[in-house]
Amino acid sequence: MTTSQPLRVTIWNEFVHERNKDAVKAIYPDGIHATLAQALVRQLGEQVQVRTATLDEPQHGIPDDVLAATDVMLWWGHSAHDQVADERVDAVQRRVLEGMGLIALHSAHASKIFRRLMGTGCMLRWREAGEKERLWITAPGHPITEGLEGEFFELPATEMYGEFFDIPSPEELIFISWFSGGEVFRSGCTFRRGRGKIFYFRPGHETFPIYHDATVQRVIANAVRWAAPSGSPYFGQSRNIEPPLEPIQRTHLADPSLHRHG
Ligand code: ZN
Repeated sequence: MTTSQPLRVTIWNEFVHERNKDAVKAIYPDGIHATLAQALVRQLGEQVQVRTATLDEPQHGIPDDVLAATDVMLWWGHSAHDQVADERVDAVQRRVLEGMGLIALHSAHASKIFRRLMGTGCMLRWREAGEKERLWITAPGHPITEGLEGEFFELPATEMYGEFFDIPSPEELIFISWFSGGEVFRSGCTFRRGRGKIFYFRPGHETFPIYHDATVQRVIANAVRWAAPSGSPYFGQSRNIEPPLEPIQRTHLADPSLHRHG
């Protein structure tokens, strides 16, 4: 795709807490997805075309045609992971393998799609005490940290996530969090699966106004640009390459002399 076309972003939210908990509704009256959508448009302007999708829509708002028209997907879920249809998880995984970027936010660590893509349990330690979090930048110069000042940023009141976080070793570690209770956590991690880029970003508990924070919004906007599809086309299937590009000497008969050791 050319740089003049806007990135097509789909923000998926289970949209449960904002409707059944007053404390969450007060922070995100139109849902976390709406706050994130406004933040992305404010940060990236005409570079993005943002749509939102929620659990209770038909096919959770992400039928195949929406996925096909999505370059980067954001995923927020917490209390309803098990209500996401496996068939839609399969479809999102296929799109990631084809090259769609995926940004898994906070409690999406336990979502079906993130666990599927990681292949591990993705469980962790947690404490909901409203303590301070300091996120150290461990990848200065990385596109996801572009525009961040200093060596760390802080969130005054957060839910703690602590190690051990049961994920495969990240390809790149972008942030490590320290919490005032003493724990640490790999808060910004990148992975690739197939052609797709994946970013896990920890901040975002629903009872704290994390997604109204300007630095958090900047990181997410940076991650959207980083996760955009890039590179050569995806073929996706094993293929028998006949004839070869160059003439070769064929050996069809079993010849033990070809398999000598040493
Ligand atoms: Zn949480």
